[in-house]
Amino acid sequence: MQRLAKETRTSHIQPMVSPRLLASIHDVGPRFESEVDRLIDLFRPHVGDRIALLVIPNRWDESPILPGSPFATRLREWADLGFEIFLHGFLHQDATSYDRPADRLRAQWMTASEGEFLGLSRAEARRRIEHGRSLIQSITGQPITGFIAPAWLYGPGALDALGDCEIPIAEDHWRVWSPASGAVLSRSPVITWASRSGTRLRASLAAAAILRHAPMRDLRVGAHPQDCSSPRLLQSIDKTLAVTARSRRAAAYAELVG
Ligand SMILES: [Zn+2]
Repeated sequence: MQRLAKETRTSHIQPMVSPRLLASIHDVGPRFESEVDRLIDLFRPHVGDRIALLVIPNRWDESPILPGSPFATRLREWADLGFEIFLHGFLHQDATSYDRPADRLRAQWMTASEGEFLGLSRAEARRRIEHGRSLIQSITGQPITGFIAPAWLYGPGALDALGDCEIPIAEDHWRVWSPASGAVLSRSPVITWASRSGTRLRASLAAAAILRHAPMRDLRVGAHPQDCSSPRLLQSIDKTLAVTARSRRAAAYAELVG
């Protein structure tokens, strides 16, 4: 009680303790340019330019971001506006052949074989992180904010490689951490939506309706280009951003490190 009173009394001089909202758009690349535009338009009235863009350098090896291309120019403009740019895998495709049936099931059923960093060796994960990071940084002219694995799935090789590359920020479903320092930066759920089947879609709508009221210091909201295929999902994303932004400050991931 005493502690609560003290926190209330000092909250006006400690803006960092106010509830925060971290908003992100996944799978940014030439393949989904129009969907990303649509999501940015949906996010902006609620969070302004406090948007993290998760960028795939070459989705499925068929949608490369080429330096000097119109898309590269857009990426630089977004970074100049203050959007945080995360590296989001390299291919976003899991080509590993898993020996254990449980791993195979997890890779194929849970992620539609998009968990690129689940089965990579440390050396290969490191190679892809370094390659992707230097490509994006050469385009934006600034350091990436961090790395977020496709489908939030990290195998042991990926976790080691993130430390090797001194990546400042990474996240999974339940936490944000710093691979560079080992510190946990936030324990919070990420509200996200699924469009792959009617059952998953309905479950994600129900989860969002509950989680957006969760009384936690941080809430994260992550939307995907595929969400644009469903008006109900777009409506839920809009509502979730509206509800959370009402009582939370839109924050940058980089603030968590400070
Ligand atoms: Zn993704």
